[in-house]
Amino acid sequence: MCAEPGCTAAGEFRAPAREGASAGFDGPPPFRWLCLDHVRAFNAGYNFFAGMSPDEIQEAQRPIAGWERATRAFSATASADQPPRWADFADPLDAIGARFRDRMKDRAERKDGRPLSGKDREALKVLDLTIDSDRTALRKRYSELVRRYHPDRNGGDRSHETRLQRVIEAYQQLKGSPAFA
Ligand SMILES: [Zn+2]
Repeated sequence: MCAEPGCTAAGEFRAPAREGASAGFDGPPPFRWLCLDHVRAFNAGYNFFAGMSPDEIQEAQRPIAGWERATRAFSATASADQPPRWADFADPLDAIGARFRDRMKDRAERKDGRPLSGKDREALKVLDLTIDSDRTALRKRYSELVRRYHPDRNGGDRSHETRLQRVIEAYQQLKGSPAFA
């Protein structure tokens, strides 16, 4: 259940506890579970450095300390779609930036302007194709993957059957999509 008073939605997203809540001496950092709407609202008003002294802010920006804190803060936004408020925060392993770019990529449009449905985008991922792929690239990748995963091509080994099935479904999806007409 969402921790926001009066909210009855499922609390699926972990957020840092309210300011003022303190961690146990060496216990885990305090947190609470929020629904998507409330984690977004929380996120929009989140100030990573709130309540820190200048020394603490500097300390938090050192790569190792920063990594721990950024990771903890980032878990709150797992499925929220706002750019991180702490986007200018040190991100030594590029974890936050990479995640954000992935999300933007999920929404990118084709250069030729042909529409892509959510199912089309999933299918492109299954086939490991870029969003601007054309029908020729689709056919080529499909035949490569069928050859790779087909039991007849693997001495009867059926271990790739699920993968093969997903490849076939993805191909069927894209073959009928306006983007590949
Ligand atoms: Zn809620």
